[in-house]
Amino acid sequence: MSRRGPLACATVMVGLVASGVWAQEKPKYGYKDTPMLPGGKWHVHDSDRPLPPVITPGTASTQDAPGSAPSDAVVLFDGKDLSHWKSDRGGEAKWDIRDGALVIHPGAGAILSRDEFGDCQLHLEFASPVPPKGADQGRGNSGVMFFGRYEIQVLDCYDNKTYADGHAAAIYGQHPPLVNASRKPGEWQTYDILFTAPRFKDDGTVETPAHATILHNGVAVQNHAELLGPMAFRALPKYRKHGPAGPILLQDHGNPVRFRNIWVRPLNHG
Ligand code: MG
Repeated sequence: MSRRGPLACATVMVGLVASGVWAQEKPKYGYKDTPMLPGGKWHVHDSDRPLPPVITPGTASTQDAPGSAPSDAVVLFDGKDLSHWKSDRGGEAKWDIRDGALVIHPGAGAILSRDEFGDCQLHLEFASPVPPKGADQGRGNSGVMFFGRYEIQVLDCYDNKTYADGHAAAIYGQHPPLVNASRKPGEWQTYDILFTAPRFKDDGTVETPAHATILHNGVAVQNHAELLGPMAFRALPKYRKHGPAGPILLQDHGNPVRFRNIWVRPLNHG
């Protein structure tokens, strides 16, 4: 490289700054003279691209106390009341609140969030009954169902044999978790779930299936797993067209599983 190139360039830059042209046209950050990204809307490092909204992250839970939700989350249960829930049989949710935990009232039926969600991040914590009672699918069984139908299994899987696709953090009947990361009964466990809703064509067929990524106690156990359809017991699942949002359902399977710190963040990318 000759020494004239950089020197000439520097001379031009000094001239631009001195004339004020550079100061006027150079954005504070980012660029406008870079290649266009696919979609034709934004340049690489585009200075006009909207900045991510600022939020305050939540705090992590301990075994002794629940953490807090991020500031932009819809809090479905914070230990106080059931105002964000209703019964799947109509009317108020009939589950119990004890020591800041939401406890399944066996026989009361499932509960549904009053708010509806499409693509979302869900955080919840659960603790299996202690001392443990029952075995197989009868031990600490519940479930969280997106759109009231796509079930992520909740089960006491600590020293409890059951079929693979019925494990805790399984997409029930479809995908076993990659590992069994269960804690002991009575200990608080976390689910962090990224759920992508299915999209349907006008004729009712599936355009894109649902997907789920799940961390169980901080361990990745489902990585963008494709759902074959809604929860089905001893049967193949089959999609049925629905709208872009639906309720979160917590299942009553007859076992007094406890929940706490439940929040959801809708994920709407423009
Ligand atoms: Mg279940």
